[in-house]
Amino acid sequence: MMQRTVFRRAALLAQQAALESSLPTKNMIMMLRLDRCMSSVSIPPPACMLRPLEAPFRYLFGPGPSNVPPRVLAAGGRPIIGHLHPEMYEIMNDIKKGIQYAFQTENNMTISMSGSGHAAMECAVFNTVEPGESVLVAINGIWGERVAEIAERIGAKVHTMVKPPGGYFTNEEIEQAMAKHKPVLFFLTHGESSAGLCHPVDGIGDVCRKHNCLFLVDTVASLGAAPIFMDKQNIDILYTGSQKALNAPPGTAPISFNERACHKMFNRKTKPVSYLFDMTHLSNYWGCDGQPARLYHHTGPVSGFFALRESLAILAETGLEESWRHHKEVAAHLYKGLEDLGLKLFIKDKDLRLPSVTTFAIPDGYNWREMLTYIMKHHQMEMTGGLGPSVGLVIRVGLMGYNCQKTNADLALAALEDALKHCKKSKA
Ligand code: PMP
Repeated sequence: MMQRTVFRRAALLAQQAALESSLPTKNMIMMLRLDRCMSSVSIPPPACMLRPLEAPFRYLFGPGPSNVPPRVLAAGGRPIIGHLHPEMYEIMNDIKKGIQYAFQTENNMTISMSGSGHAAMECAVFNTVEPGESVLVAINGIWGERVAEIAERIGAKVHTMVKPPGGYFTNEEIEQAMAKHKPVLFFLTHGESSAGLCHPVDGIGDVCRKHNCLFLVDTVASLGAAPIFMDKQNIDILYTGSQKALNAPPGTAPISFNERACHKMFNRKTKPVSYLFDMTHLSNYWGCDGQPARLYHHTGPVSGFFALRESLAILAETGLEESWRHHKEVAAHLYKGLEDLGLKLFIKDKDLRLPSVTTFAIPDGYNWREMLTYIMKHHQMEMTGGLGPSVGLVIRVGLMGYNCQKTNADLALAALEDALKHCKKSKA
């Protein structure tokens, strides 16, 4: 018994020492093995857990996540504070102001989800739609498909307008569908990352108001890269993700609701299906409900919020207009280089191209998977094929946030040129 305690203590000390140095020593591994022989647990610690973490450097030139600036990584690495400490509330208040600037909104009901873009997508639908209500979804890529499925899962009557990837909807088409289906919510993707399309938004909010319908817009792939004005464009609910042009690690997702949206979601007959995403609780957690006390609801991702605050600070320092201009300029440099390589841009109309994610048609006779594997292997660079309905149609190159630099566009072009030379033409 005594001997066993000694072994345990030695193993613990070894563990602690290794934690401090981040590298397991030979002694530590021996001690752990000894400890394991004496242990009452039948499942041993996995060998992989006794090796240090390995995360290679990659050029993340796909549709996201994107590489993150050192200052944002450093912010995420700061010591944890309690999620209900006054300092954390201050940081959350700052985040709220940063999102209001990024969205161009004065909405009080502006928060960040503790979760990825999908969390914001579900939060928007779960809170504003009740079972049996009609929802209209514009599908011109994968994100509309996702929202249609989410709304279907909560028992909404889902109506879709469908165009092939790269297609877009006129305001007249949207109004016709709205008049026919009388939805309580209309969903549109601003930056369709699966096709590389930036959908026009002007005037749609007015159509929604005329038909007493809420306007929900996804800007996960476009925020910071292409202009969006939540208040001026009469968008009722807007969300984004942290990991693209916003420059933060994945895992947080800003979302904002205007008065019309709040009126609908706080006058429901039924409770939203999700406790975690229930805006009555989240609005209190974020200090948006006017109550004097902010109560425990869930433990927010403290490090993720530190990083998000820093990324919003970068956007505020840079300025939205400069960020949009810069993304457009770098994207134009990339378009020229792609065309010089003989590649065909997938979105023909320049004004409809999403500056953060560029798509080009898979060159004739090439196997896109082979090209992307080659680029990863020889250039440590991620580019991506299509997603959902655009699979097999396009290759996607994302240059956003920290990665949005002409030098990075040149690296991507050099990698593509190399892949075109070396990937033998074969049937895709
Ligand atoms: N919407 C769009 C336009 C996206 O590009 C993405 C992510 N690629 C999402 C939603 C989903 O975001 P997440 O992966 O962070 O859940």
